[in-house]
Amino acid sequence: DPGLYLVSTPIGNLSDISIRALSVLASADRVYCEDTRHSRKLFSAFDMGRKLEAYHDFSGEADRERILDALREGKAVALISDAGTPLIADPGYKLVRDAVAEGIRVYPVPGASAILSALVASGLPTDRFFFGGFLPPKEGARLEALETMRAVPGTLVFYETPSRIGAALAAIETVYPDRMVAVARELTKLHETIAKGTARELAAAFEIEPPQGEIVLLIAPGEAAAATEADVEIALRAALKTATL
Ligand code: SAM
Repeated sequence: DPGLYLVSTPIGNLSDISIRALSVLASADRVYCEDTRHSRKLFSAFDMGRKLEAYHDFSGEADRERILDALREGKAVALISDAGTPLIADPGYKLVRDAVAEGIRVYPVPGASAILSALVASGLPTDRFFFGGFLPPKEGARLEALETMRAVPGTLVFYETPSRIGAALAAIETVYPDRMVAVARELTKLHETIAKGTARELAAAFEIEPPQGEIVLLIAPGEAAAATEADVEIALRAALKTATL
């Protein structure tokens, strides 16, 4: 069917591609990706040889217009990123925004995303969470960003890089010294690990063995949020009691 297909690809383990993703990627009129050389490897792994074109949100209006034109003509266009779900800390938002504004059909083809994989395996609360993207690279902005999230009543989730994880943990030690932190690395890959502790404990461990590869950083909700959860449970029990009377 015509429309824009947002196709999730694996974040490491190639077997995580979905059957639907393979069929959409094989049959779409056009496939746009972040980096054609990178995505070529994915297509070769599944014996799919086909033309790949590049798209970035910073590609500019002209590139976006060309894709929108294809969609207006009734083509099926697939968008993938280097890994995981497109638009999640990856290109595609402006294209989808414009497609939706024109009433063009947009189909999600769900699959891996590092956010949910890290969250569900971290042991931190999953009922509510806030994805903060990448923390700012500058120290002042990083501390401020962490501080503005103090009242968020859920687990905080960030993407990180090995070169900045030390600085991020130092900032967390300053702002949230008592909260439990999880560092999930290389999810679905050979060296997958999830380390937990306070920011100080993790920083000490990483001094011995600096983390490598791709990283998701998670911070447990604060006391205030935990209290709210307990309150909800008390309220629920009370409501159940009244209901059965
Ligand atoms: N669109 C992707 C997704 O849905 O997960 C995220 C793209 S973002 C540019 C790349 C960041 O995602 C990495 O720096 C890392 O923080 C995180 N990431 C991607 N794959 C990962 C993996 N296998 N393990 C841990 N983190 C990963």
